[in-house]
Amino acid sequence: MSYCRFSDGDVYMFVHVAGGIECCACSLAPKVKSIFTEGSEKHPLFGKVKVCGKCKGKGCDNCMMPGDTRCNSYQDALVHLYEHKTNGDKVPDYAFKSLRKDIKNGESLEPLLCECGEIAMLFNFDSTPPRCIKCGLKEDGDEDAD
Ligand SMILES: [Zn+2]
Ligand SMILES: [Zn+2]
Ligand SMILES: [Zn+2]
Repeated sequence: MSYCRFSDGDVYMFVHVAGGIECCACSLAPKVKSIFTEGSEKHPLFGKVKVCGKCKGKGCDNCMMPGDTRCNSYQDALVHLYEHKTNGDKVPDYAFKSLRKDIKNGESLEPLLCECGEIAMLFNFDSTPPRCIKCGLKEDGDEDAD
């Protein structure tokens, strides 16, 4: 679940499957190189991606993405939200409210793991357990592999 999305304010914060609470594409985090900076031969989602032509992989405004901020507790996330507000970002009141509520009775922020031990990123709403990207792609490919 998310506390707030970009449609409601300048912050997108949610409980992350890898543990903790993530402030995604955070305006307070330093920009980071992305798949579009350094390119990739075979990215699991994007396939072949070219190195950024503008900076040749050094990192520039054209290809770098806002980084994420990971908060390890509900309390940290609340402090982080206030930092956004102090910085002039729009943060809806209900985000503060639901975080305060979760400080009292929120669920554990431990990561969800795939059965192989990697952090799970793929979820089905049927009976399939959560899987990491690697196992998920392997299973999908099993039908046409040898
Ligand atoms: Zn943030
Ligand atoms: Zn670039
Ligand atoms: Zn796995």
